[in-house]
Amino acid sequence: MRLLIIEDELKTSRFLHKGLTENGYVVDVAADGEDGLHQAASVQYDLLILDIMLPRRNGWSVLEALRKAGRSTPVICLTARDAVSDRILGLELGADDYLPKPFDFAELLARIRSVLRRAPTRRDDVLRVADLEMDVRRHRASRSGRRIDLAPKEFVLLETLMRSSGNV
Ligand code: CA
Repeated sequence: MRLLIIEDELKTSRFLHKGLTENGYVVDVAADGEDGLHQAASVQYDLLILDIMLPRRNGWSVLEALRKAGRSTPVICLTARDAVSDRILGLELGADDYLPKPFDFAELLARIRSVLRRAPTRRDDVLRVADLEMDVRRHRASRSGRRIDLAPKEFVLLETLMRSSGNV
């Protein structure tokens, strides 16, 4: 699972990067709205964590541009604002969930899992390279039909290698 964090506060993005990496996710970070939109449009992410108050382009604008470009990547919005009108705007623009700051990491993790469970199953959920098979969503890997037990970090590493199959 590959996630993109779009967040300008270094402290928050570092904290999220660390916590999510420890939980087995592959995590990229963008520090402003323009870079975030560019990355989100050019890489196939499983989920975006999008801060709203961002330099260069705010989170609403990133979300709107992304959806207009036909990208249905699930999005969880983070914001210091918790006004109901903001929340409605976010959901109308196509956010999948919304979490007011400051938030509890365990709650964010639970919401990420919930959003990912609801996300439509994609074709590349099952990866195959020669006799190696990986079901990314069920966290299962097998070789010639025999199950391989992997630690979370090994699983992420193998997934990354399988997705890059054929590349150096
Ligand atoms: Ca911010």
